Amino acid sequence: MYDEQGFFERYRKHLREKSRAENNGCVFWTGAVHKTGRSGSVYGAIRVQLPGTCARRTIGVHRLAFMIDRGQCYIARGLEVSHLCHQQLCIAGKHLNLEPPSVNKNRNICKHIGRCKGHVGYPKCVM
Ligand SMILES: [Zn+2]
Ligand SMILES: [Zn+2]
Repeated sequence: MYDEQGFFERYRKHLREKSRAENNGCVFWTGAVHKTGRSGSVYGAIRVQLPGTCARRTIGVHRLAFMIDRGQCYIARGLEVSHLCHQQLCIAGKHLNLEPPSVNKNRNICKHIGRCKGHVGYPKCVM
């Protein structure tokens, strides 16, 4: 059993060691990845021990990075951590945003057309 502070310290260090900063502000995960969904998109995955429990679970690295960046140990149910930069392996806190799946999905359109159409109430994509 360990506390939230221990959780943040432990995994902040781990993410730093397993990533590479790019000039454009992205920080790419260089650790283990796996493919998900029909699209076969590649996500970083990590097995973590969440604070206040002995349970270990595998979660998306960008979700872990988001929790560490925002200083919270959970992600609200029903929401997704999206990539404003459209780079699935990016774990830069500034490029991650918590939002409904519908908004996240709309970002695919921006990626496709090469510019951000804007997302009412949510930050623009980082292009
Ligand atoms: Zn990025
Ligand atoms: Zn956009």
